[in-house]
Amino acid sequence: MENKILVTRSSMPPYEEYIEEIKDMWDSHWITNMGVKHIEFQEALKKYLMVENIDLLTNGHMALELSMQALNLQGEVITTPFTFASTTHAIVRNGLKPVFCDIDPTDFTIDVSKIEKLITDRTCAIAPVHVYGNICNIEEIDRLARKYDLKVIYDAAHTFGVQYKGKGIGEFGDVSCFSFHATKVFNSIEGGAVCFRDVHFGEKIYDLKNFGIHDAESVQAVGANAKMNEFCAAMGICNLRHVDEEIAKRKIVVERYKSYLEGINGLQLSPVQDDVKSNYAYFPVVFDEKVFGASRNEVFAALAEHGIGARKYFYPLTNSFECFHGEYDINETPVALKISKRVLTLPLYADISLEDVDKICDIVLKCRKQ
Ligand SMILES: *Cc1c(COP(=O)(O)O)cnc(C)c1O
Repeated sequence: MENKILVTRSSMPPYEEYIEEIKDMWDSHWITNMGVKHIEFQEALKKYLMVENIDLLTNGHMALELSMQALNLQGEVITTPFTFASTTHAIVRNGLKPVFCDIDPTDFTIDVSKIEKLITDRTCAIAPVHVYGNICNIEEIDRLARKYDLKVIYDAAHTFGVQYKGKGIGEFGDVSCFSFHATKVFNSIEGGAVCFRDVHFGEKIYDLKNFGIHDAESVQAVGANAKMNEFCAAMGICNLRHVDEEIAKRKIVVERYKSYLEGINGLQLSPVQDDVKSNYAYFPVVFDEKVFGASRNEVFAALAEHGIGARKYFYPLTNSFECFHGEYDINETPVALKISKRVLTLPLYADISLEDVDKICDIVLKCRKQ
């Protein structure tokens, strides 16, 4: 059996570096509840992400869920089904109704030309997703939000370190939610953050992540427990020292993929957008079976046969999940439906060898029926 190539591999600092980072905790015995590592990590991230306000949480999902709670949203939230379960679940778990907008066929983010006709007097917010490192049409979303007085909560789980026109991507919208899950470009084992505009929102989130406890004798909100612990913060501090180098390596991998797959009939790749400094988070390929000569599922199976784990990401669409019992009509988002049936993200992480990329591309291209 050949060595397996997984779709991603978690970044980790040198072992000694992490051990050094956590040493102090054996003196202090302070291992969670906003300790020194939490504070240090938060300050370092603020600089790196170029944002004004940030708070750390246990994961990206709680960032989304508690942000919606902190904004006191009620009614309908316009979002897309071409995302991870988390985005839609955060909406539903807040007692809100997701209203699904279709996606743009080239960058896979929310199709801003289709938002306005979904706005009703019950709409309270837009929850767009930056997908694969591609960013949403920020200006147009901002214009609509102002016109209709809507909150904007970006799911920025895929856009760690991405900049738009020289600004940190977390600076846009009312709130941007990042994920530092082990599988992401940057990780703190598990972790997440909210970047936000309004300091009053920040105070609410800070309480909500700690059961809504405002001070020792005052509990002002029905909060959750979503505090980042010190071991995760220490991992984040270490990984942050290496993340630029990792993104640079990812770029080389992406360029290698492109050298084989760009310009091949029937394959759609995802170009870096104008004015965007990319993080090379994912390498999605959309297969047009009739033109390319093989379907997404055939390519997926051929790679699996060689021990290579590509991922049907995002498939299925969130509006087709069993847990929603057919409440949503997937045909209302035909572009998302089409892309989700055709897309595959190929293995991509900083230390994947270029030989492995060559091998993957070779297998993909050999899938074509002559
Ligand atoms: C990973 C991810 C999340 C959830 O983040 P966790 O840290 O795993 O909770 C949310 N949205 C998207 C698009 C993601 O990829």
